[in-house]
Amino acid sequence: MSERLVDSHCHLDFPDFNGREVELLDAMQANGVGWALIAGVTLERFPAVATLVERFSNLFAAAGVHPDTEEEGAEPDEDVLIRLATHPKVVAIGETGLDYYRLKGDLEWQRDRFRTHIRAARHCRKPLIIHTREAAADTLTILEEEGGDVVGGVFHCFTEGIDVAERALALGFHISISGIVTFRNALQIKEVAAFVPLDRLLVETDAPYLAPVPFRGKLNHPALVRHVADEVARLRGIDVDALAQATTDNFFNLFGAASRA
Ligand SMILES: [Zn+2]
Ligand SMILES: [Zn+2]
Repeated sequence: MSERLVDSHCHLDFPDFNGREVELLDAMQANGVGWALIAGVTLERFPAVATLVERFSNLFAAAGVHPDTEEEGAEPDEDVLIRLATHPKVVAIGETGLDYYRLKGDLEWQRDRFRTHIRAARHCRKPLIIHTREAAADTLTILEEEGGDVVGGVFHCFTEGIDVAERALALGFHISISGIVTFRNALQIKEVAAFVPLDRLLVETDAPYLAPVPFRGKLNHPALVRHVADEVARLRGIDVDALAQATTDNFFNLFGAASRA
């Protein structure tokens, strides 16, 4: 494979990877994975993310607070997100969105947090990294209400059907496919992976979660995005080089990340 891939969404700052960063960056290189983006999960973790992206030129960051973190840290306001986004390696706001699968009850705070992220993204003109699980209708409605289409972004680890993909695409968003696409019974995701226009498609690991086949159940890491790309290319009936070229171009067009060296 001559064209290098990007892992558009991972959590390399998680304790699972402590002390293994150089080994994992080497594995990326050996597998033709040139870059990775680390998505934010809490404000408290941001310094660890910043340290990594300052240390390695081919890592980028997003600043945000995950919808699943209810009592694990500070609630972000627009100002703090805007301030973090001034870091030169921060290319997006997120991950943010809605998750009605992991948390139940009154989730108005989750919707408020999501709105805060969209407003911050609009203020600093950076794309959004959207996490949505069992909450597609509200996610799309809030994006429409808050003008999320002005900045666009990506629906990461996409697990919805073609109907939701069409609405996300209509709002100008990209769709990112994770290692779930390699699971034998993930028919809906396989269908979406073949459906999304090539110029709106990204691939990711969401490491340390969701290791692709044949590593299912093991610790995931960015080099394994190669297996995601192989499966998506197979489903689309195209060469993996063409898939790599398109998804890498899409990543740099979307996030405007300066250094592609
Ligand atoms: Zn997520
Ligand atoms: Zn994530």
